[in-house]
Amino acid sequence: MSALPTGDLRVFAQYERDFTEDVDVAVVGSGPGGAVVAKELTDAGKRVALLEEGPPFTPADFELDGALSMARTMREGGLRATRGTVMPTMQAIALGGGSLVNSAICNRAPDFVLDDWCTQFELEHTTRRDLDPHYDAVGKFLGIAPTPENVLGQRNLLFKRGCDALGYASEPTERNVRGCRGSGECFTGCRTRAKQSLDLTYVPAALRGGASVLTSVRVERVVAEGGRVRGVAGRVVAPFTGRPSHRFRVNARAVVLAAGCMATPVILQKSGNLVNRSGQVGENLQFHPGVAMMGVFRDEVTPQFGATQGYQSRHFLRDGFKLETLWAPPAVLAVRLPGYGESLKRRLAMIPHAAIWDAIASCNRSIGRVRARARGLDPNLSWRLHPQDLRILAQALWTLSEIFFAAGADSIVPGVYGIPEEIHSRAEAEVLRTRPLEVSDIVIGGNHAFCTTRMHGDPRRGVVDEYGKCHDVENLWIADTGVFPRCPSVNPMWTGMALAHRTAQALAERL
Ligand SMILES: Cc1cc2nc3c(=O)[nH]c(=O)nc-3n(C[C@H](O)[C@H](O)[C@H](O)COP(=O)(O)OP(=O)(O)OC[C@H]3O[C@@H](n4cnc5c(N)ncnc54)[C@H](O)[C@@H]3O)c2cc1C
Ligand code: SF4
Repeated sequence: MSALPTGDLRVFAQYERDFTEDVDVAVVGSGPGGAVVAKELTDAGKRVALLEEGPPFTPADFELDGALSMARTMREGGLRATRGTVMPTMQAIALGGGSLVNSAICNRAPDFVLDDWCTQFELEHTTRRDLDPHYDAVGKFLGIAPTPENVLGQRNLLFKRGCDALGYASEPTERNVRGCRGSGECFTGCRTRAKQSLDLTYVPAALRGGASVLTSVRVERVVAEGGRVRGVAGRVVAPFTGRPSHRFRVNARAVVLAAGCMATPVILQKSGNLVNRSGQVGENLQFHPGVAMMGVFRDEVTPQFGATQGYQSRHFLRDGFKLETLWAPPAVLAVRLPGYGESLKRRLAMIPHAAIWDAIASCNRSIGRVRARARGLDPNLSWRLHPQDLRILAQALWTLSEIFFAAGADSIVPGVYGIPEEIHSRAEAEVLRTRPLEVSDIVIGGNHAFCTTRMHGDPRRGVVDEYGKCHDVENLWIADTGVFPRCPSVNPMWTGMALAHRTAQALAERL
């Protein structure tokens, strides 16, 4: 067994044998949560190993073909889905985690959400005032700012026009980008490196601080002994195939799990059900299920140009939904288009005149769970959309149709089973309001996921405290979106990073 030096990024081809490493802190997962923790701990003078199952990607590795890109950057080829209510959920496998493929939308959790978290989950230090310094620190480091006008493009501006006409508040989305060119390619990876994904920001900063960043390593279990955690162990895995090779062990004084809210509970379950006196590990799985709609305009929209999700409306947050503009490779969008053969071809031909907008919903009544499978680390996900949450999605679809017609759309393609495939007026769109929907009538997707190791002030009802420390074990911490007590109602990344920033500070003080 050989020891690895610090301040070193390792890729698959560099592992020649089994190895061990000794550090202060092993951080598992290099997404928004883990990368922030790794950098902040190295800044605090701690020896850190950041362990990531996925490989690093450079612009040459990005594939514009949506399906190929998903096969390379997403778990289970981007086809992971829940059972119960079947809903696809994309989770990344890459250095930088979800930030590599996401749209860089940054939102602070609204006041009413934080108030609810504090009162319902017995949290004393998770108010706006407590978290804003952490949001600010992350925002400054990543250059989070509203999308500038020169890269909005028609797809985003038409959304603004529709919202303005109806008196709905909307604004350019705040994003973690520097010098965005509006290429609309965030989903397949930003080839210009404008997106400040974590592999380009926090991970290099952690490296500069002396961290070991080990990619293509899959942590299989947390090693615990005598009521304390001693480190983590697993296998080196080949990029894209996941074929295991060498074994490794990282001994650490503390472990931070930030493997994402679907992998962290599985690792815990595979480690002898660690930290589960509350019975909450893997429970409470929540999503922001999303629906999308296409609107077709007389003039060309050229929807491929413009910041991927450059405009948003938080007008309806208290009603349970947020509205956004959207772009993705046409083949990915086509999954939501009705018809086949000639009619599908005709709709695809409309895309140059089309804008696609989406809504994400706060589905606090729709709860699921994550369970480890007998073999491997891919999770078994069960989740069911609650009928009242389905009504929120129905209202969101109707509202999108209203905004499209107010923006001057000739028609919309609602993508809802049982109503006309194309609708040509606001009056016709009333059907979206009057016809009761079944879950199977709509196409939903949920890429924002949370709560599977939730924080709670009462150790009997949550896995971690509000700083991310596990209630049951002193030196085991969690720093991914699994710690959210409930869905945040807005895009989760910035909140996840703010909480991780606070977790790193709290852990550094205790080491
Ligand atoms: C297509 C898409 C678009 C999105 N758009 C936005 C957006 O614009 N704004 C926003 O706020 N949110 C967005 N999200 C959600 C956001 O990206 C996630 O909420 C965020 O990435 C979660 O961060 P995390 O650190 O909790 O987990 P992740 O980002 O999932 O990171 C976890 C990391 O751990 C690694 N890992 C897992 N298991 C192991 C293991 N056993 N060993 C080692 N490593 C492991 C994973 O490979 C991954 O890199 C989007 C998500 C997707 C998929
Ligand atoms: S819109 Fe294009 S340039 Fe801007 S961040 Fe996304 S991929 Fe990069």
